[in-house]
Amino acid sequence: MAVTPSVVWFRDDLRLDDNPALLAAIKHGGPVVAVYVLDEESAGIRPYGGAAKWWLHESLVSLSRGLAQLGAQLLLGRGPAERILPSLVAETGAGAVYWNRRYGAAERSVDARLKTGLRADGVEVASFAATLLHEPWTIATGQGTPYSVFTPFWRACQAAPPPRAPMDAPEAIDGWTGRAATDDLEEWGLLPTKPDWAGGFRDAWSPGEASAHRLLEEFLADKLDSYANERDIPGQSATSGLSPHLRWGEISPYRVLHETEEARRGATGRKAEGATRFITELGWREFASHVLFAAPDLATVNWRREFDAFPWPPLNEDALRAWQRGKTGIPIVDAGMRELWRTGAMHNRVRMIVASFLIKNLLIDWRHGEQWFWDTLVDADAANNAFNWQWIASSGADAAPYFRIFNPELQAKKFDPHGEYIRQNVPEWETDDYPQPIVDLAKTRKAALAAYDVVTRAKQESD
Ligand code: FAD
Repeated sequence: MAVTPSVVWFRDDLRLDDNPALLAAIKHGGPVVAVYVLDEESAGIRPYGGAAKWWLHESLVSLSRGLAQLGAQLLLGRGPAERILPSLVAETGAGAVYWNRRYGAAERSVDARLKTGLRADGVEVASFAATLLHEPWTIATGQGTPYSVFTPFWRACQAAPPPRAPMDAPEAIDGWTGRAATDDLEEWGLLPTKPDWAGGFRDAWSPGEASAHRLLEEFLADKLDSYANERDIPGQSATSGLSPHLRWGEISPYRVLHETEEARRGATGRKAEGATRFITELGWREFASHVLFAAPDLATVNWRREFDAFPWPPLNEDALRAWQRGKTGIPIVDAGMRELWRTGAMHNRVRMIVASFLIKNLLIDWRHGEQWFWDTLVDADAANNAFNWQWIASSGADAAPYFRIFNPELQAKKFDPHGEYIRQNVPEWETDDYPQPIVDLAKTRKAALAAYDVVTRAKQESD
């Protein structure tokens, strides 16, 4: 009897390399049906922002080409996954469905319901670990609770069974050749049209698996030596640039870890230090996802609930707009916000500075910043974005203490001493056209500390 086809459902894993769901579909034996579903309708799913949609379009073009070279077509469906997957199974007569796991609450509910429904219809369903190095339920404190502090969390990860080795991409796929309904990617309208604001994105990025691997190779060959010392300097290209590729799963964290460990083997001094530091950054990525797993509403609810008492003043819309447009009159802040608008990304150090400025100098609720980043970042990630915004707001897990308010001018002196980064992004800096600061940094710092006293008092009263 002929083996039935199997479906591989691509989600946050737009790659052929180290893709256990794809390998399981091939192992199943029959023809492989590859599908991507754009689901913005299922309950609780947060629709992608504009920059993310741009990346997704380009990444799907790249994945679809890669699959075609191996012999498979990428089918596209738009709508609730719980409608599209079962109808694809019926149309193709598939006997199995495979996917790699996701960790957001709404996504997990969709997956759990689908799994139950498909199994009830006699379809085999299996899911795999491919996006995180450690499944969130495998790393817990002695009391069995999730970690809330990074250092012991990372120690526990390192004491856990080591992440598996990455698996190579298949050499060929027996692609399903029957007819099935599929959308035209162009008709999804993920790319901007009028105006086409993505010119700077195209200059800065090439989405897809091949460039993810190239970036990793270049990083390990050329930048590891200087990473530990220069990763905070926004005017240098000292970091890997991998975050959007990791976000969309174009490269697997297992592959990144494995190659970095290979590069570290036998290395000493700055190279070894760079490799360890880089692996620790992957640790922060893990930590953010584990925190999100334990606190699914991380993007909207203070992780430390005493911050619910924070007396945010009424929203100053003009100040928010000035921040979004890079017109605050604080050069390093404006440079970061304009880099974001132009390229869909911003250097990590500057993300911290602009976020602190929004929350602690403009006294604007961190959720407005989180939402703006969600709309404008190509690496917009449910865990990393919310986690880091709450980290800066001091309301998050293992967060910066509230009184640690970045002074953007001192930060600029320290990390952009010659103003290279500012000049790259704010050409009118140092001319009469550049605006005066919209706030007094010293006065607003004091106001922020006074507002924070309310949180401290509320906490003392409730203890
Ligand atoms: P590298 O230094 O080369 O680091 C390697 C990888 O480690 C990164 O690709 C990333 O996956 C991970 N990593 C590095 N720093 C962090 C961090 N602080 N937290 C979690 N993971 C990290 N990152 C996102 O991927 N998506 C987001 O939506 C996001 N929003 C952020 C919002 C704020 C307010 C801040 C302060 C940081 C945010 N970050 C986010 C983290 C970080 O800024 C980016 O991952 C980083 O700029 C990526 O550059 P890189 O890949 O060259 O980093």
